[in-house]
Amino acid sequence: MSLLIKNGYVYDPINGVKGDRMDIAVKNGKIVDKVNEKRASVIDASGMVVMPGGVDIHTHIAGSEVNAGRLLRPEDHFKDVEARTATTRSGVGRSIPSTFTTGYRYARMGYTTICNPSMPPLEARHTHEELDDTPIVDKASFPLLGDWWFVLEYLREGLIKECAAHVAWMISATKGYAIKIVNPGGVEAWGFGRNIRDLDDPVPNFGITPREIVRGLCKVNQILDMPHTIHVHTNRLGQPGNYQTTIDTMKSVEDLAKGNNTAIHITHCQFSAFKGEDWATMRSGAEEIARYVNHHTHVTLDMGQVVFTDTTTMTADGPWQYTLYELSGNKWINHDVETETGAGIVPFTYRRKSYVHATMWSIGLELALLVEDPWRIFLTTDHPNGGPFTSYPRVVSWLMSRKARERTLKRISRRARQRSLLPTTDREYSLYEVAVVTRAGQAKALGLKDKGHLGVGADADVAVYDIDPRRIDPSRDCRAIRRAIKRAAYTVKGGEIVARDDAIAKSVDGKTLWADPRVSPCVGAASCPEVLLDLKERFSEYWTVEIENYFIPERFLKHSAPIPISPEV
Ligand SMILES: [Zn+2]
Repeated sequence: MSLLIKNGYVYDPINGVKGDRMDIAVKNGKIVDKVNEKRASVIDASGMVVMPGGVDIHTHIAGSEVNAGRLLRPEDHFKDVEARTATTRSGVGRSIPSTFTTGYRYARMGYTTICNPSMPPLEARHTHEELDDTPIVDKASFPLLGDWWFVLEYLREGLIKECAAHVAWMISATKGYAIKIVNPGGVEAWGFGRNIRDLDDPVPNFGITPREIVRGLCKVNQILDMPHTIHVHTNRLGQPGNYQTTIDTMKSVEDLAKGNNTAIHITHCQFSAFKGEDWATMRSGAEEIARYVNHHTHVTLDMGQVVFTDTTTMTADGPWQYTLYELSGNKWINHDVETETGAGIVPFTYRRKSYVHATMWSIGLELALLVEDPWRIFLTTDHPNGGPFTSYPRVVSWLMSRKARERTLKRISRRARQRSLLPTTDREYSLYEVAVVTRAGQAKALGLKDKGHLGVGADADVAVYDIDPRRIDPSRDCRAIRRAIKRAAYTVKGGEIVARDDAIAKSVDGKTLWADPRVSPCVGAASCPEVLLDLKERFSEYWTVEIENYFIPERFLKHSAPIPISPEV
């Protein structure tokens, strides 16, 4: 099985390729040096752009939270229906599409790897069932560990190594990929109707602060040698004045960064970049955050861009969802996951004429344009929180074209426009930078060595877009760029052509990537007697589920792709 993608303009930032005309050869699902052209299938990519398959570091596409959103919103299904074809199954849903539809829509845009960033460990089984059901793309899932009682107790006692052993067990039990922290301590406090006020506010009943949780899990992450850093949704998300909490959170692990390595990822940063005292005085804190990031190498961010549309917000941050429910008056689901975490879901419409919504739209783009290094800020909408992932082509056009931004600026709230930093920001992304923020940078931050590039040995995940860089000027022809990215001319996944001109050519099963701490027998299967004993005792005390039913065996996954890690525990 070989394939030759001929004559395209290749953008492969990890290998320093910036639009050179070259061929990409594929054999047995991997990129190779060359193939015998006579025996290979050939894609003529003349006059087109070739990039590695897209990588999405943060998108809520599966699990109980997403499914509860689907139940809450029949109106989201009615208005967006995908009919069955010879190669695809039917599906519904605009902001919370069903599993098949999710896989197809990502593949049509040239995306091949996605991360589901919010998995309550207790609901991991359900999450993996849905991920197994999501075709074509490879996926990874991040268990929520920042409010897990074990973690809070171990960190309070200063037992970092024990905490690491338990986190390793949890990663292995849930087949997780990275440590997710949401409103550290605040989600636990919400179980008692409270929230956290700042990084040094003690968590009720636990006597530990969010700062200690973030620092503790950052150390645990390093001990376990996880492929990605801690993935953090900050305290006070969505509250005016929270930009300072975000900067303090980044600062809190400054001393833990080793060499040039990153130590923390701040997710959907737009929602955590507000200045002001209240909604009336709320304004952008993007400049301050970008300044900090431009001067420190230990941080990566993703945008969490807002798009003016009807969507569905969902996060483990229960208190924030309650605020949104109060602000919008829309229907709301609140969910508590035993000793682990919680969640909330609220439908939401971002309006151009709303000062706050328009300012949020501006903040996301300001962050992406003011952070100088594209390897440290990634394109997301925190799907579906800021808007559905299907709006990425529109976001790309805003990044690449000042004209596209101005067109939207003209239509937003006047007060938001007057305060926006966008009219004075000239920067326009190049195709190379787009390739960084939509695949190469994300793969690098995730520690996915075979993804996000087209070097020999990489997974043969490739996107071909009908953009001729000699003829199209993205700054002027922003609509052409948007159209081309919306429908990849070809998407290749694992060496097979899966999408072609907006149609799914073949539906394959993607892999489930998970971090496997099998190297240390003391961690992987919790075979270390003390750890196992402690876990068993606490399970009967804390959970309604027996430990034997909790651990997800590898055979449960349709296409397991463990990534071995080497803990120092
Ligand atoms: Zn999120």
